[in-house]
Amino acid sequence: MKSLFIVGNWKSNKGIAEAHDWLRQFNAKCQMPNAKWKDLAIVLCVPYTLLNFLHDQIKQLNLPIVLGAQDVSPFGDGAYTGAVSARQVKEFADWVIIGHSERRKYFGETDEVLAQKVAQAKTAGLNIIYCVSDENTVIPDGVDAVAYEPVWAIGTGKAETPEHANAVIAGVKAKTQIRSVIYGGSVTPDNVASFLAQPAIDGVLPGGASLDAGIFAALILASQGQALQTL
Ligand code: PEP
Repeated sequence: MKSLFIVGNWKSNKGIAEAHDWLRQFNAKCQMPNAKWKDLAIVLCVPYTLLNFLHDQIKQLNLPIVLGAQDVSPFGDGAYTGAVSARQVKEFADWVIIGHSERRKYFGETDEVLAQKVAQAKTAGLNIIYCVSDENTVIPDGVDAVAYEPVWAIGTGKAETPEHANAVIAGVKAKTQIRSVIYGGSVTPDNVASFLAQPAIDGVLPGGASLDAGIFAALILASQGQALQTL
């Protein structure tokens, strides 16, 4: 069985009370035999404001979730008002998403600035999930995992076909040394298994489907060929 990544992306959603409820619901719904967790890494990428709280809660509840940030500063610590440095993120998280298409679209992030972010994240010891919109996107050195996310499929309810996603991901792997490449774009509990059945696809990155703990739990269980008993 291949090792799978499921990377939830909360984007700019949730405050502390909502995160608290999400965790308790997730804990109650997502029960699987321990053996299953060995082949599965669940990464939850949340707003900076929730990292500290979730870090403590995940530890307290002993949940099989590792935390990620959704972005990081291209600079280190210092006089960069409003930015959060990779070292600051690393206090709470092991992963970071870099190069999400929403960062490129709404914040004007270029390949150059994204390469700086990758370098900062690497130095701080963060694992990096780098987003690409096709197999021709430049991928900086030092990236640990790649997420293939066609822009038209993000948040639209129109997922890529598993076969085409597999072909693009196989293309990314052929061009790079990166062995973990996942698919993102309208992934749901109903379609997740069809992506994971493809030989080149190592996991998925659900945005909308990670916001509700029941749906996220159902998606994780579906990735293991199981159904959620009670929603
Ligand atoms: C994303 O957050 O990158 C994403 C793919 O979102 P959604 O699953 O909602 O399409």
